[in-house]
Amino acid sequence: MGKSLKSILEQEAFTKEDLVTMLRSEGIERTLLFQKSSEIKEKYIGNKVWFRGLIEFSNICGKDCLYCGIRKGNKNLKRYNLSDDEILDAARFAYNNRYGSIALQSGELESPAVTDRIENLLHRIKELSGGELGVTLSVGEQEPEVYKKWYDAGAHRYLLRIESTNKELYNKIHPNNKKHDFQRRLDCLKSLQDIGYQTGTGVMIGLPFQTLEDLAGDLMYMRDFNIDMCGMGPYIEHADTPLIVHADKLLPLRERFDLTLKMIAILRIMMKDINIVATTALQAIDPIGREKAVKIGANILMPNITPGKYRDSYKLYDNKPCTDDSAEDCQSCLEARISLADAEVVYGEWGDSKHFERRQKTKDKR
Ligand code: SAH
Repeated sequence: MGKSLKSILEQEAFTKEDLVTMLRSEGIERTLLFQKSSEIKEKYIGNKVWFRGLIEFSNICGKDCLYCGIRKGNKNLKRYNLSDDEILDAARFAYNNRYGSIALQSGELESPAVTDRIENLLHRIKELSGGELGVTLSVGEQEPEVYKKWYDAGAHRYLLRIESTNKELYNKIHPNNKKHDFQRRLDCLKSLQDIGYQTGTGVMIGLPFQTLEDLAGDLMYMRDFNIDMCGMGPYIEHADTPLIVHADKLLPLRERFDLTLKMIAILRIMMKDINIVATTALQAIDPIGREKAVKIGANILMPNITPGKYRDSYKLYDNKPCTDDSAEDCQSCLEARISLADAEVVYGEWGDSKHFERRQKTKDKR
């Protein structure tokens, strides 16, 4: 017989087998897992949540990921690209409402024009906020020189999901060509970390062909790479994507949701002081999905502050919530929701990953 969940939770470190047992937990054992992860969150982070105002500034993408609604090949989608002024207005909204940070996200494009545009925007965002607004970038794979330029212009966090750390699975959910190369994605994460970004990654949970062993491997990768932040959410099929042909093989949405909560709880137990996002995709399945994630370990929320008229077009998956709210609606709704989760929103702070600070200190000592 394998080890009990109770005895596993008393360990300091976990084997892949332990992680699979944790992912399998049901009933009272799952309750124990969630109790442990909430305790750790409370102890290392407190019952707090920080905002990153999310600006989805363009859905134009050069890639063709087989799961993603904004993939280049999807012709059933109105493409948009916010003007610089619209982006700056959204940043100003975040600043005036004392969000500590914003996150700029878009489809993936690599070009000198994109590099310059983002560099310029970063300078202007820093300027309009007197250097106070923190900026996370999530604009995909780029050359190290580009990452460095943006870092020097003021971006200090970067989110690049590895999507799956199992290379075979990665290749099943992406076209097999140079533009969708597993090794490049890993290399990008490494260069982000080397440059000095607080580096975040994440995976989709409940993908076709994905096993619990794959998810355990994802968690081990995050631990071994020593990430500072994580954003992971359930995979939700999109009708206009190639992966839809495998919809019959998927776990029911409820189970994907449940598995995501377990992934968050386990990661919190493994990496006590990193930043973990309660992702929007959770709410697409459960109306209070993000609150549940906050209760069991997440500490970051990304209220959408993209101007309303564009939101409907950033459809990564079907049933994306909140696409018809305004930025003000999002804030008051999230405030109320967070207090329901017995947590408190912290305003006017960057909410940096404590893990990153600790990692920097130990690096300096060497
Ligand atoms: N292209 C940028 C970010 C935009 S997409 C980048 O790669 O950094 C943001 C995230 O949405 C992706 O990393 C992916 O994990 C997630 N996503 C895409 N399609 C999805 C789907 N069908 N279900 C759930 N999440 C999805």
